Amino acid sequence: MSVKKIIVVGGGAAGMMAAGQAASKGIEVVLIEKKNRLGSKIAISGKGRCNLTNAGDIANFVNYYPGNGKFLFASLKELDNYALIQFFEKYNVTTKIERGGRVFPEADDSEVIVKALKKYLIDSGVNIIYGQAVKQVIVKNQSVYGIQLEGSGEIIKANSVIVATGGSSYPGTGSTGDGYLFAKQVGHKVIEPLPALVPLRTMEEWPKTLQGLNLRNVTASVWVNGRKKGEEFGEMLFTHFGVSGPIILTLSRIASFALRDKHKIKIKINLKPALTREQLDLRLQRDFNKYKNKQLHNSLDDLLPKSMIPVIIKLSEINPEKPVNQIKKEERKRLIALLQELDMTITSTLGMGVAIVTSGGVDVKQINPATMESRIVKGLFWAGEVIDIDGVTGGYNLQAAFSTGYKAGRRAAEYVLTTV
Ligand SMILES: Cc1cc2nc3c(=O)[nH]c(=O)nc-3n(C[C@H](O)[C@H](O)[C@H](O)COP(=O)(O)OP(=O)(O)OC[C@H]3O[C@@H](n4cnc5c(N)ncnc54)[C@H](O)[C@@H]3O)c2cc1C
Repeated sequence: MSVKKIIVVGGGAAGMMAAGQAASKGIEVVLIEKKNRLGSKIAISGKGRCNLTNAGDIANFVNYYPGNGKFLFASLKELDNYALIQFFEKYNVTTKIERGGRVFPEADDSEVIVKALKKYLIDSGVNIIYGQAVKQVIVKNQSVYGIQLEGSGEIIKANSVIVATGGSSYPGTGSTGDGYLFAKQVGHKVIEPLPALVPLRTMEEWPKTLQGLNLRNVTASVWVNGRKKGEEFGEMLFTHFGVSGPIILTLSRIASFALRDKHKIKIKINLKPALTREQLDLRLQRDFNKYKNKQLHNSLDDLLPKSMIPVIIKLSEINPEKPVNQIKKEERKRLIALLQELDMTITSTLGMGVAIVTSGGVDVKQINPATMESRIVKGLFWAGEVIDIDGVTGGYNLQAAFSTGYKAGRRAAEYVLTTV
C-alpha cells in the first residue's frame, strides 16, 4: 500500500473526533458509518439539547465513571472539558453551564454539535462513506490489514483501523454492538454488556399509579439482598412501568448487575431526607395539630404531593377517614417509616433499547490507555463506548467518547507515520 491510510468505523462522537484528528496529520482517513447520517446518538442526547460535557474540575472526572474511570485518566488529560468547549467554539458553537455543571450548546439544540463535527470532518479532508456497515476487521500476523464491508463483501486495506462503533444501547441509532463482535474475532476479551443509566420496573403497582409525578430533593437508595449498595440525592420520576429520573438512572447500574446475578433488589425512597425520624415525627404532629378536626386523607397536603397521599395512606393501612386527632403513635410511626423508607421491589430494567449507556465492552486491560491501541493487534485502536467504560449522567459519557476519540485519532496517525 503506497498511501498511508486509516479507517475509522463509526461516525458517532468518538469516531468523528478520531477521524478529524487523524486526518489533520496529513493521512488519508476514511470514516465508515452504517447509517445514512452521522451522530445519530448525539442528536438525541440530552433530550435533544446535547449535554456535551461537564464544567467540573477535570481532576475529579474519573470519579464519575463507575465503569473504569481510571482508564480514562490520560485521555481526559489530553482533551479535557475546556479544550472540548474551545473546540466547539472554533465551529461557532457557544455553550452554557446549567445545574450540576452540565454544559449545553447555547442554542439548546444538539444538531449544532453534529453540524460542527461534520464541518470539522470536511475541513480535515476526511472521506466519509455513508450507509455501509463494516462486517469485520481483518488482521494478519497480529497487525491490522483492513476491514471487510457487509453486503458487498469488499475488503478495504488500511494501515490502521479505529473502531468507534459505540455500545449496544439505543440500537436504533446504529450502535448495535458490532464492535464487540470485531473484538472477539481478533482475540479481545469483551466484558458482558449490560444496560446502565436505564429506568427500572417495579413489582408493586402503586408506583405506576403515580406516573408522571416528579420528586425533587429526595434520596433513593438501592439495596441488594438486604444490603445498601448505593444512594443518590436529587430528582426522580414515577412512570407507567416503575421508576426513572436522574437518581434512579444513576443507581440502575447497580440494579442491572444485581439482576443479572439473580439477586433481590429494592429501591427505597426517603421523601424527607433533610429530617431525622424525630424531626419528622414532630413535623407530623404539628400538621396533625393544625388539621386536628380533619380526616387523615385531608391532613397531609403540607407534607406530600397530592397524588401521593392516597398511596401512602393505603400502604400505612390506616383508615383514610380516621380523624387525625385519633391517630395513634404507632400509626404515626408507620407513616414516618413510609415517608423515609418507601420501598419498591425491582423486577427488571427496561433493557438495552432505552438504556442511555452500555456498561461492559472491550476489556480495558487489553487496551493501552496512553494510546488507545490494542495490546493484541498492532494498528488497531478503540474509542468511545465500545470500550468497557461508562459514566453517570452530566456530560461524562460524551466527554469520554470525545477524549478517547481524540487520543485514538492522534496516536493512530503517529503509529502510521512512524511505523508503517
Ligand atoms: C437517549 C440518550 C441520551 C444521551 N444523552 C447524553 C448526554 O446528554 N450527555 C452525555 O454525555 N451522554 C449522553 N448519552 C450517551 C452518549 O450519547 C454516548 O455515550 C456517546 O454518544 C457514545 O459515543 P460513541 O461515538 O462511542 O458511540 P455512538 O454515538 O453510539 O456511535 C457509534 C456509531 O457507529 C456506527 N456503527 C456501529 N456499527 C457499525 C458498523 N458495523 N459499521 C459502520 N458503522 C457502525 C453507528 O451507526 C453509530 O453512528 C446519551 C445516550 C442516549 C441513548
